Amino acid sequence: MHKKILIVFGLISLVFAAAVLQGNVPKKTTEQVHHEPYREISGSIRKGETLFDVFKRYQLSIEDLFRIREASASVHRLRKVCPDQPYTITVDDQDRITNFEYWIDDDSILCITRNEAGFIAEKKPITYEKRLLYFGGAIQDNLIASMGDSRDALMLALQLSDIFAWDIDFTTDLRNGDTYRIVVEGLYLDGEFKKYGDILSAEFVNDGTISTAYRFTVGGETDYFDRDGKSLKRAFLKAPLSFRRISSGFSRSRYHPVLKIRRPHHGIDYSAAAGTPVSAIGAATVIFSGRKGQYGNLVILRHANGYLTYYGHLSRISVEVRAGRKVEQGQVIGYVGSTGLATGPHLHYEMRIGNRPVNPQQVSLPRGSAVPVNLLEDFQQQVRAMDTQLAAIVPAAYAKADTKGGAGIDP
Ligand SMILES: [Zn+2]
Repeated sequence: MHKKILIVFGLISLVFAAAVLQGNVPKKTTEQVHHEPYREISGSIRKGETLFDVFKRYQLSIEDLFRIREASASVHRLRKVCPDQPYTITVDDQDRITNFEYWIDDDSILCITRNEAGFIAEKKPITYEKRLLYFGGAIQDNLIASMGDSRDALMLALQLSDIFAWDIDFTTDLRNGDTYRIVVEGLYLDGEFKKYGDILSAEFVNDGTISTAYRFTVGGETDYFDRDGKSLKRAFLKAPLSFRRISSGFSRSRYHPVLKIRRPHHGIDYSAAAGTPVSAIGAATVIFSGRKGQYGNLVILRHANGYLTYYGHLSRISVEVRAGRKVEQGQVIGYVGSTGLATGPHLHYEMRIGNRPVNPQQVSLPRGSAVPVNLLEDFQQQVRAMDTQLAAIVPAAYAKADTKGGAGIDP
């Protein structure tokens, strides 16, 4: 008798162990299928996994999978699914899939529903609840390290660097003690912070110079403007090495993408890792692309305002950058190297007007388009509202934006 109880207990443990071993099976296990009209399976795509693997793991109909793929082909190709993307599958009492949801990215979800005829696929936008968040801090070492360790903080730092890319070279211009204040949308789902949305307004004080940006939409196009309503865009970016391109490959603040610059001659030398992408400072026509003496691999661009820019010692020139072709502002034209007369990898950058060399750091160019007169009152009203919010932010020394949302400083 005693033995029998033990065996029964052993069997129960085995069943329990089997359930545990199945791993990521959601709370409703197969056991509950018999008691409930349907079951819901949810999880996230694992690394290297396909939907076929998911269907097999949960013993779902492979035939349904083929039909789901077919139904969604015109909306979103399901052949390749991305790791970490969540999915939810609902199955009825006969183990037929009634619903399949897959998160394509942060902004859209693929919804597939069964009806009498088969499956219907639809791509639905994810609607976030927006909350305003406020951040202020001081620079220590570099922008990314100062804003925090998380991926979200990195994305926010890159967004900030994009906004001021015409005014501040975030790789070489920053000083310890520079401060920033940011008003940004926090995107929430079911009360939980998901990611940062758009920066609505920002202020950056670099070596005592204050730059302010206000997000505003004109004729359906959203842009950032200074307080006078002039677009922050200019004919030339502040630097030929994009802070975003340098930084986004490194998700940890432990990497400090600080570059040294030297001005030993008529140009500027940016020391940077070999292979760092080099961007066209402004829209231009390529007038030279190839090898040239001490410059090594060189690209020369001619801009509409009469300026020429030189990019030397490149390890490689982008294929499409050929004499006579046009390039856009920010377009990658080549990669940092040490071809020609160079002791180590660096970008030799030079600006000329005619034959006369000019210091690119001292060239001042007019701002881009302005807010049209008929919208100026709306814009100024927004500026005043944002200024009140910015002023209330205390740029506490080394305040970090990496505590998931809600951690902003409330004005
Ligand atoms: Zn040089």
